[in-house]
Amino acid sequence: MDQFMERAVELAAENVRDGGEPFGAVLVKNDKQVAEGINELHQRFDVTAHAEIQAMRKAQKMMHSHELKNYTMYASGEPCPMCLTAMYFAGIDTVYYCASSEDAVDADLGKAKNIYEELKKPKAERQMDIIHMPLKEGQENPMQLWKVKRSRRIF
Ligand SMILES: [Zn+2]
Repeated sequence: MDQFMERAVELAAENVRDGGEPFGAVLVKNDKQVAEGINELHQRFDVTAHAEIQAMRKAQKMMHSHELKNYTMYASGEPCPMCLTAMYFAGIDTVYYCASSEDAVDADLGKAKNIYEELKKPKAERQMDIIHMPLKEGQENPMQLWKVKRSRRIF
């Protein structure tokens, strides 16, 4: 356990004392802490207010960039699929975690593990219905619009 994970775990414990869930995160670049976050579901009407995403939001706002290449995330708990996906989108290199998904299940915080299991299933077998609805005849196609706009930018 290094200083960054110590801070992430400390944030998680403080958050529990403040009425929140036991999750804290610290975002690091070049061995320096850039931002930190806690799970704020108890304070915000926002399911994305997880510790890792909160830390990423702060860093992205500070850097005026959505790219977080060469950053390392220290999460007090193993990231849920949403945070993991956000970290992939941002290009984060490495994630350290302390408590595992199994530890979370033990603490009655099993949603992340359930969603990981759900994502392994074929679309048709998942709890959530995900149904393709194609464009109407003659309707403007935003994907086509994007492709045209993008090709003009390149040339
Ligand atoms: Zn999460």
